[in-house]
Amino acid sequence: MDFNKAINIVYNDSSFSVETFKYLKEKLNELGYYVCDVFDYTAELVICIGGDGSFLRALHQYSFPDIPILGINTGHLGFLAEINPEEIDSFIERYVKGDYFIHNINPVEAVICTRNDCINSFGLNEIVIKGDKSRTIHLDISVDDQLIQRFSGDGILVSTSTGSTAYNYSIGGSIIDPRLNVLQVTPLAPINTNAYRSFTSSVVLPHDATIKVNPEYRFEDSIVIVSDGMEYRYSSITEISLKLSELNIKMLRLKDYEFWEKVIDKFL
Ligand code: NAP
Ligand code: MN
Repeated sequence: MDFNKAINIVYNDSSFSVETFKYLKEKLNELGYYVCDVFDYTAELVICIGGDGSFLRALHQYSFPDIPILGINTGHLGFLAEINPEEIDSFIERYVKGDYFIHNINPVEAVICTRNDCINSFGLNEIVIKGDKSRTIHLDISVDDQLIQRFSGDGILVSTSTGSTAYNYSIGGSIIDPRLNVLQVTPLAPINTNAYRSFTSSVVLPHDATIKVNPEYRFEDSIVIVSDGMEYRYSSITEISLKLSELNIKMLRLKDYEFWEKVIDKFL
């Protein structure tokens, strides 16, 4: 088998995605590509058929593989996807000719420490730290070991530039041009009263910043951590440290990809 011609296709179970998979597989086979039955980490490409949610779940399921990845949108928004199903033929032509580039994206990484151990979690879009039981949470937030604020409210969202158009945008965060590799900390319903003071806008930090979040002791078990929409609960969290990971997500983009064109197309 020529491993350089192996391609992984991951698809969700909607009938449109299954149809799209069948069509794509046939086209690729005609050109001598091998479509893997089991996910192959030495393949040259991952194609994900579904919405942005399926794209994110595929990345998590296969532990952020070090292989170029492309989305075909059969979902609702498909902001992360590069093409629609009707563009498959022209995509394959352009792929064979090398008419694309790879955009390397660093996910955000959280090291979540409890009284017992530390666990890592990654997010291509974002990692959210929020209250689990509909109550206010109080978080001490430091940047590079300097205490910036004691936050009170629903929680905070730490977004990558890629995630800036997702949940971050819905809660009033800024859209970040992908040429900037930054972390954005956006508050979720921050409280500003005589009792508590929190920043009401996002804070944008450089790629090498480390954010430390220390929950107030008595509420530590009412925190939920949400990485790209997937929820995790840990008991007795003492500290959460967040930074841009050294992992690279290799997003395949066609040469004429234009971020702002996509924003206008999908959002306005
Ligand atoms: P979902 O509830 O279907 O996602 C909400 C919407 O966010 C979907 O329309 C999804 O696109 C879109 N989306 C995902 N990543 C995006 C990106 N980078 N830029 C622009 N839009 C994006 O849940 P899901 O499909 O499992 O996706 C998980 C993501 O949902 C999380 O990472 C979070 O960013 C987002 N989310 C948003 C809100 C909110 O805006 N209030 C609340 C919770 C979660 P598709 O339609 O193509 O799936
Ligand atoms: Mn979705």
